[in-house]
Amino acid sequence: MFVGIDVGGTNLKAGLVDETGRILAVKRIPLDFQGADAFAQTLAELSETVIQEGGAKNDEIAYVGMGLPGAVSGGNVLFITNIPMENVPLEALFRRHLDLPLLLGNDADCAAVGEYFCGAGRGTRDFAVVTLGTGIGAGLILDGKLRGGLSSSEAGHLVICHGGEPCNCGRRGCWESYASATALIRLTRSAMAAHPESVLHAVAAASGGVEGRTAFDAAEAGDETALAVCREYVEYLADGAVSLVNILRPEVLAIGGGVAAAPDHLLLTPLRELVGRECYARHGGRFTRILRAERGNDAGLIGAAFLGRAI
Ligand SMILES: [Zn+2]
Repeated sequence: MFVGIDVGGTNLKAGLVDETGRILAVKRIPLDFQGADAFAQTLAELSETVIQEGGAKNDEIAYVGMGLPGAVSGGNVLFITNIPMENVPLEALFRRHLDLPLLLGNDADCAAVGEYFCGAGRGTRDFAVVTLGTGIGAGLILDGKLRGGLSSSEAGHLVICHGGEPCNCGRRGCWESYASATALIRLTRSAMAAHPESVLHAVAAASGGVEGRTAFDAAEAGDETALAVCREYVEYLADGAVSLVNILRPEVLAIGGGVAAAPDHLLLTPLRELVGRECYARHGGRFTRILRAERGNDAGLIGAAFLGRAI
């Protein structure tokens, strides 16, 4: 058995996971960072809690795996985006409180590992997950192993439009500036400003503001402006996906994140058509199947728990 810990923006989520990927116990606590040593102690206590709640003993646990939004190297955290920690030997600190190995991974990598073993990537050797959220996270499994090590793929920063929209990374025209949930919200807002008659306004008002799903919901109601937003968004998504597929030729590309919950006819079906029409495999060779990620928010936790199988 394994313990997986998912470090999110505001919470820590830990789970006891068995060899088949079943979550036997789970506990979530608010992320309250009070220094690296206290953080390591919190992780150790959280691990012990789920081990006990799952009815296991410490000596049945192979290791604790943890996914975090940042870069790691071995048992060291190089940085975490939402926690002030740099070059911290976290495994060494952790083992002062709980004598189990601590494996560290990037959160997008962990989501890929979770989907690879227990979701959309089952049965493949070459697999990629793209998570559409605030940005675009990408995790790659090549020949059965996690690609990366230091940190995950930065496929979100493929430039799809020279001199285009500014990106947080400092460049312009990155894929995530056009195909993340944040970008979809921007597209939706600009369509609303140009089309005061659109159903988008009523849909956004009903949910308290513009969200990633606003355009899909209004498109489902038959709104032409919303349909055009969805179409434009999928074209941007396809632009980056075609490059990713051409470079890596994975068997499966899984699409995850909140946006991936959109109805097939508005997202995955047109995405498959566009990628199929434009990817290099149309000249021969293996086509990449495009699937929806299956494990949702659990992928990061399960992937953290299975990290030892993928590195
Ligand atoms: Zn960028």
